[in-house]
Amino acid sequence: MTRITLENLGRDFGEFTALANMDLTIADGEFVALLGPSGCGKSTTMNMIAGMLEPSHGEIRFDGRNMNGVPMAKRGVGFVFQNYAIFTHMSVRDNLAYGLKAQGVGRAEIARRVGEIAELLQLSPLLDRRAAGLSVNILQRLAIGRSAVVEPSIFLMDEPLSNVDAAFRAVMRSELKGLQRQFKQTMVYVTHDQLEAMTMADRIAVMDHGKLLQVGTPLEVYNHPADTFVARFIGAPGMNLLPGRVTGGDGAPVIDLGAAGHSGALRLEQTGDILFGFRPEEVVPDANGPLAMQVTAAERIGPRIILHLAAGDHRAKVVLDGETPAPQQGETFRFSVPERSVRLFDAQTERAL
Ligand code: ATP
Repeated sequence: MTRITLENLGRDFGEFTALANMDLTIADGEFVALLGPSGCGKSTTMNMIAGMLEPSHGEIRFDGRNMNGVPMAKRGVGFVFQNYAIFTHMSVRDNLAYGLKAQGVGRAEIARRVGEIAELLQLSPLLDRRAAGLSVNILQRLAIGRSAVVEPSIFLMDEPLSNVDAAFRAVMRSELKGLQRQFKQTMVYVTHDQLEAMTMADRIAVMDHGKLLQVGTPLEVYNHPADTFVARFIGAPGMNLLPGRVTGGDGAPVIDLGAAGHSGALRLEQTGDILFGFRPEEVVPDANGPLAMQVTAAERIGPRIILHLAAGDHRAKVVLDGETPAPQQGETFRFSVPERSVRLFDAQTERAL
């Protein structure tokens, strides 16, 4: 198993910086998700770790050994792409055996390891089927199996579930996590889907516009986003951010939230413009609450109700459990946000305060 270190890693394409100065250490056996919107530089980072793309600057080290210039085949990485590359003319068994044969592993050992991985990924009944004609879900499983069977010390997966249908994705999430737990590989997993990152990763590296914004456990990035991008990107719906102004100064500062009301300014020492952040799930309906917004829409999604709220220029979403009496569209929703759930951001820098 291998520790991965990225130091001041960057990649330019001509004038364009796809990745700028990334520093990240991924521990031996750790599962790290690179999470961010399309074009943020996730795949560029992965391709450099894999050895398919050379960095413009910086270093990639595996267990302290500089990998710059080392070809992919010599890095000991398994790579599963969004567009799985399966040999469709071969059987499932031959696809699974391919990497082991290439390594010169003996027949009996190949049979044992192919049997084991097929069992784990529920491919056993399909071993003698030709890959051509199998469903996308099964092909993706096969692509994962084909990489996993050679037991690479580093596993790289780039959006492996994006072509898989939604129902099957939930199953695959737990299977992939189980697979990684079993083999204890160091896993780097690229996704734009925060749910995948939140459910599988030990730590999440949130990226935007070629920059690493925050690295932390799923709970850390959810509870303590470093800036407003992370606050909005993590969570579904993301964190609410209401522009406000801290007034009052010493002793009893208050956050004026304009048409939405006000809030105590908590531990805040500075005055001036801020963004008042709170998770949609952490709102308390409260007839005497200091905040009030109009309900512009109320959606019931399974056991949850999502209220869309507006007050002046402020917009927010609130998630209530279905048991809570919810106001109707056009009514006023009064609420409070518990002090421990409030997150404040500087209005200019958008960094957490
Ligand atoms: P996606 O999920 O869409 O692949 P991503 O976060 O993985 O997004 P990258 O594929 O790393 O993003 O791309 C980052 C940026 O670099 C994009 O704007 C992309 O257009 C650009 N880019 C990537 N490869 C090249 C290339 N070979 N030449 C020029 N620009 C590139």
